[in-house]
Amino acid sequence: MLSVKNLTRKFGALVAVNNVSFEVEQGEILGLIGPNGSGKSTTFNCIAGLYAPTSGSIAFENGEIGGLTSNAICHKGIARTFQIPRPFHNLTLLENVALSAYFGQNATVTREDCWKLAEDALQTVGLPVDPDATTDGLGAASLKKLELARALSTQPRLLLADESLNGLDHGEMEQAADMLLRIRRDKGITIVWVEHIMGVLMRVVDRVVVLDHGEVIFRGKPREAQSDPRVIEVYLGA
Ligand code: ADP
Ligand code: MG
Repeated sequence: MLSVKNLTRKFGALVAVNNVSFEVEQGEILGLIGPNGSGKSTTFNCIAGLYAPTSGSIAFENGEIGGLTSNAICHKGIARTFQIPRPFHNLTLLENVALSAYFGQNATVTREDCWKLAEDALQTVGLPVDPDATTDGLGAASLKKLELARALSTQPRLLLADESLNGLDHGEMEQAADMLLRIRRDKGITIVWVEHIMGVLMRVVDRVVVLDHGEVIFRGKPREAQSDPRVIEVYLGA
């Protein structure tokens, strides 16, 4: 479904992503893990069009998307969540999600379609569909859910989830992991899940790609990753 080949992204002299290659197969949940600063978000930003790759190619459903705008990439069927949720606090929950639904569709959508998509997305993540509900007092877990709802409202075929567990307690982490499984099962959405910790993610992902200093150091089954000497070294050294 997605093929990243020899992706490199530099920021001045810093090589944030260095010759990274991996594939995502339709229907899988792929874990993209690595310590802080290993290049996970930059990889996402290149796939989602926030940054243009310095070199390399990114193909989605056999078409090159590297260097396209984030809007164009979203319209092709890729949605991403951001590590740090930044909703519009002066809009209601429903308005926040409806706005994403509006800008995220490939085809022209009516106002009514947008409300419908927003309601569906809020329901999927378990946030109130009540039109008066606001972002006031939302905790870390709910803000993550809102972020996910905004991405889902664009009706993606591929979801890029960045650090969904950051700032959550253990119970909330397990719930977030179950939610991604449910989204794949009920909506048939393929998922790449970025996380700096391994724990909860290992139960859910089909395969993992491990980054360190912008380079792929492991590709394979989660169980094998946990006993791989390089992966262990990176995690113990982090
Ligand atoms: P991760 O998500 O794995 O924690 P990032 O992809 O955010 O890592 O960062 C990888 C490296 O690239 C880090 O050294 C980070 O400081 C650097 N970096 C990321 N974005 C930028 C940017 N916009 N400008 C300069 N350096 C950046
Ligand atoms: Mg990151």
